[in-house]
Amino acid sequence: MVMHLLALHMKRVLVVGAGIHGLVTAAREHLAKNQVFIVEKRKRIGGRGTSQESLGHQLEHGPHLLLKGGELHSMVKKVSKIKPSLKPLRPNKVMIVGHGMLQPLDNPKAMLAYKLGQDPIREEAVKLISGWGQDIPARSKALMKGNLCVVGEGWAGLVGRLASTLEEVGVPIQTGMNIIEKTEKGVVTSKGLKIEADIVRMCDGAPVGNPVKVSTLDVVLDNRPLKGLHGLIKNDVAILDLAAIHPRKAPGMSHFSCISLSNGVQAIEELLDERVSGWRSHIITKRENNSITLTDSRGHLSDGVI
Ligand SMILES: Cc1cc2nc3c(=O)[nH]c(=O)nc-3n(C[C@H](O)[C@H](O)[C@H](O)COP(=O)(O)OP(=O)(O)OC[C@H]3O[C@@H](n4cnc5c(N)ncnc54)[C@H](O)[C@@H]3O)c2cc1C
Repeated sequence: MVMHLLALHMKRVLVVGAGIHGLVTAAREHLAKNQVFIVEKRKRIGGRGTSQESLGHQLEHGPHLLLKGGELHSMVKKVSKIKPSLKPLRPNKVMIVGHGMLQPLDNPKAMLAYKLGQDPIREEAVKLISGWGQDIPARSKALMKGNLCVVGEGWAGLVGRLASTLEEVGVPIQTGMNIIEKTEKGVVTSKGLKIEADIVRMCDGAPVGNPVKVSTLDVVLDNRPLKGLHGLIKNDVAILDLAAIHPRKAPGMSHFSCISLSNGVQAIEELLDERVSGWRSHIITKRENNSITLTDSRGHLSDGVI
């Protein structure tokens, strides 16, 4: 009888897209006791929240910091036997070029001016690092408290944890299936296949309104020119050294994950030329992206989740 009632309430939920949003949505729907199925148009899952292996290093699409205690972190913890290894970005180890540390612990006057809202340069820099230019007060607070973290296994690791748990509980992920139409009864694929579902959750990353585009550069160097600094900021360019923040990333080397809000990869390279002379001759591997969607007009990052 109980089984019968459960079956009555169980809905067939089709999730379109296997990025962070799709995977978390599928997990939520499974926990709500629905029958879930995910379709993804690419061969790989993870969308923008994943990485590419290159010469033994995982290169992401620009810097990704996980909000400790945020929804993505909580969901990953819920589905994992072993917690992901997180190390906080320390704002007192991030330098604003020509202005001092992002959190000037050794300069009470500068700290006070920032707290009183009298330091617009530092305020912009906090916005840059906490939300990549988006004004997200919860993340700004988290940054100053050491709750924005680099994930040891990278975001691809978080994606892997979510996907393998979904597989274990019987939620299939079908890759290489492009959905071109949503109907009253379900969806239609580019090959004309009709898939029926009671509920369709669109998690295809399609932007709402005007998307915010940024440029990124991820580069691994065989030396440590920033000598333990977690990052550098100049105008709207930020360079983080993931290897200085998390020891699992490129031990003994540098893993610069960089973002430029308005002047392309060129602005990142100019800052590297200015502050890290000779960096080009130490490159082990790199990946750049001249225009990637950071958020849509809602300005949400994904670890909220969306
Ligand atoms: C430089 C940069 C830094 C970032 N930093 C952070 C950060 O620090 N913290 C944070 O929380 N977020 C960060 N983000 C944002 C985060 O990467 C994105 O919000 C998140 O990856 C988006 O997830 P999504 O699942 O909504 O979309 P996507 O990752 O775009 O995934 C959508 C998926 O749907 C699939 N799809 C699309 N159309 C179809 C279709 N028709 N049929 C089937 N499948 C389809 C796509 O192939 C893709 O796999 C950052 C983003 C960038 C670019």
